[in-house]
Amino acid sequence: MASSDWGYDGENGPEQWAKLYPIANGNNQSPIDIKTSETKHDPALKPISVSYNPATAKEIINVGHSFHVNFEDNDNQSVLKGGPLSENYRLCQFHFHWGSANDHGSEHTVDGVKFSGELHIVHWNSAKYSSFAEAASKADGLAIVGALMKVGQPNPTLQKVLSALNAVKTKGKQAPFTNFDPATLLPSSLDYWTYSGSLTHPPLHESVTWIICKETISASSEQLAQFRSLLSNAEGENAVPIQHNNRPPQPLKGRTVRASF
Ligand SMILES: [Zn+2]
Repeated sequence: MASSDWGYDGENGPEQWAKLYPIANGNNQSPIDIKTSETKHDPALKPISVSYNPATAKEIINVGHSFHVNFEDNDNQSVLKGGPLSENYRLCQFHFHWGSANDHGSEHTVDGVKFSGELHIVHWNSAKYSSFAEAASKADGLAIVGALMKVGQPNPTLQKVLSALNAVKTKGKQAPFTNFDPATLLPSSLDYWTYSGSLTHPPLHESVTWIICKETISASSEQLAQFRSLLSNAEGENAVPIQHNNRPPQPLKGRTVRASF
């Protein structure tokens, strides 16, 4: 029995989300295909600056369709600033998207090319709002840094995250996850594309300033398989691995994708 009113397969998959979440057909949905010939270099875009305190890393949680690594967000110890943002955005959590095989799994694509997975580091506008929950539905509420994962060399930084998955195999499980700087997961170049979009799963709020790194990060085939070993069921139920959790690209609908480079 599905315990959620949305998922990634069949009758509650992405094609059906609009029935319960009409914004799925909105004008600012994510992810998108980034067509590099149509992006606009914007010389006014500043470099992005990430300043994360590893001590704010708190816990890892299996949320049924993925897992989240959550951070303490009582104050601005871990922030994203610069880039297209005019305010400080506070780190909240990071998570990944992946596919059932290595030839897909990213949410954003570049010139139609699918990558094997995608990292999302999620921040909220703490200058303007009082909580993530309040910010999540506001047009300038969230900023997510994305990095596309290409199958290749094992990624040593990713391994600390993957090794923690054993403790949260089933939906609802959580375990401490401490002393971690998610900036170590990002590529060495922070050149980026940016556009206005949405959360990529329900409630699909159009509240996200997307910052997608041009440079990819790596994950080995074995590491990608570890993502797929996570289970969507609760403990004691039949084992249902999370094979894939990536929404396909959505129409651009006249939006401009700006490039920092
Ligand atoms: Zn995501």
